[in-house]
Amino acid sequence: MRLLLVEDDAMLAKAMVGGLRLRGHAVDWVDDADKAVSAALAHDYGAVLLDLGLPSADGLDVLRSLRKRGWRAPVIVITARDAVEQRIAGLDAGADDYLLKPFDLDELAARLRSVSRRALGHAAAELVSGAVRLDTSARRCTRAGELVELTAREYLMLETLMTRAGRIVTRSELEDNAFDWSREVDSNVVEVYVSQLRRKLGRGFIVTRRGLGYAVEGGGSADSPRPDFREDP
Ligand code: CA
Repeated sequence: MRLLLVEDDAMLAKAMVGGLRLRGHAVDWVDDADKAVSAALAHDYGAVLLDLGLPSADGLDVLRSLRKRGWRAPVIVITARDAVEQRIAGLDAGADDYLLKPFDLDELAARLRSVSRRALGHAAAELVSGAVRLDTSARRCTRAGELVELTAREYLMLETLMTRAGRIVTRSELEDNAFDWSREVDSNVVEVYVSQLRRKLGRGFIVTRRGLGYAVEGGGSADSPRPDFREDP
């Protein structure tokens, strides 16, 4: 998923961005409250990691003002403040989880998966669409039981489609979820990755809805018959 990191400590931020990209995420980093608000409103982030001690404002005020506007992305507060009252204030302001500095990146990655699953309404770590299964904890993809090797970007695209299985995902939604600011994106990049994924997962797996976007069939067990989901003529 694509993440927004709001952190004014550059050294910590760079380490986090590096570690999270290694774990397959697209990550944007901002270091102050105003940039955090504009970025959060401009992109469809899978989750936001929010430091509380920002130079110009308190992270909790940023969160409150975003929530007041109806903004719903999951938020994990990352902070050195460990008083119980602070944790309660964070959760009351609309945070979904809370992580104390210093923390382990693997633990952060696990919590990210958990808040994101809750936000998307999945309880399980495994996404299923037809014969394709995506284990989001192990970042492992199988088709009819056979392991399918995916690049980091293919994985992000597939994850975006499968977390929204059964509905149409627009090209810009796919682009927004799989690429961060570190990369120039060609206009046909989504088509390129969709065709790579079709090559690996079967031509009919990703359906094109002309003029609208792409879709993979809705969840359920890999053994169950295909639901009412047909390719456009
Ligand atoms: Ca700080």
